[in-house]
Amino acid sequence: MKVLGVLLSLVLSWSVYANEGLLNEKSVIDHHLHVACFGYQSKCYLGSRARENWRFWFYQKIFDFSESEAKRHGDGYIFDKLAARIKKSKYLKKAVVLAMDQVYTKEGVVDKDHTEFYVPNEFVAEHARRLPEFEFAASVHPYRPDALEALVTAREMGAVYVKLLPAIQRFFINDSSLKDYYHKLVELDLPLLIHVDDESSFSQESQQFSEPAHLEFPLSLGVTVIVAHAASNGERDGRPTREIVLELAKRYPQLIADVSALTIFTTRKGHLQQIVNSWSADRLFYGSDFPLTTNLLSSPWYYLFTLGFQKTWEIAQISNLWDRDIALKRALGLPVTVFHQSLVP
Ligand SMILES: [Zn+2]
Repeated sequence: MKVLGVLLSLVLSWSVYANEGLLNEKSVIDHHLHVACFGYQSKCYLGSRARENWRFWFYQKIFDFSESEAKRHGDGYIFDKLAARIKKSKYLKKAVVLAMDQVYTKEGVVDKDHTEFYVPNEFVAEHARRLPEFEFAASVHPYRPDALEALVTAREMGAVYVKLLPAIQRFFINDSSLKDYYHKLVELDLPLLIHVDDESSFSQESQQFSEPAHLEFPLSLGVTVIVAHAASNGERDGRPTREIVLELAKRYPQLIADVSALTIFTTRKGHLQQIVNSWSADRLFYGSDFPLTTNLLSSPWYYLFTLGFQKTWEIAQISNLWDRDIALKRALGLPVTVFHQSLVP
């Protein structure tokens, strides 16, 4: 029995190392990373709701970037801190940093009351240009009066895609007035990274805007759509959001997804395996959703019963946040090919 145990653990550890051996060093792109900024040497701002919310303290902690540091060094300092961590990662080559536009009303007026975080395109683009560890993803609210010009400018500034968060930015994806906006994305060859499942990272959300079936509109116009978190979390009219997206994926080959945040224990436990089992691997892209990769939300110990003690312990020893996230997702069954796929140069 003991011999069998030793043999089994040898086979297990061999398969672990064999899997790791397939993943090339410095080959992985994180397609989904956020930064924090406060308005020091930048045009970022935080709305009063965000500041008064308990998450304000929590986010400074998990971003490893406080307002007092920003005051001393400027908001751009977070990029230097992150670049140092990315350099130390064995597998991560670079990350796409997501800007976050302000909320606009349908009339094209900035809605500061509903804006919690404003991370301007210029701010992200400037630091992505400065540091080779980053690429820039723009955010252009479709109700901005200058939306189409802003998309062109974003492209000129090096945007690799555009990110929108309807539940927070408060617009309907299938609003017919967005037709020109979607046409412009196609013309500029800019994919759209969009969030269409339940959102819970902000102090207030309007889930009615987060409707996966509405993706049919931009898809029918030819937009390449990257569904954040493969829409793993939530239901609409009794149907899981991920199934609604999968249904669309059958009809629209340019519908792809990222696997960011899929190990968050509180809201997405077990979702990574569901996504791996239902999606074709060549349409999935690696993303972390940093800072939500923090141990507090995504520790491998939450998967102890799935992974067993030895594997869990091995992963828990990895100090680099990305290397740990990659190892955990590998161990939970995400194929190695997904980590080698990239939407950026
Ligand atoms: Zn995110």
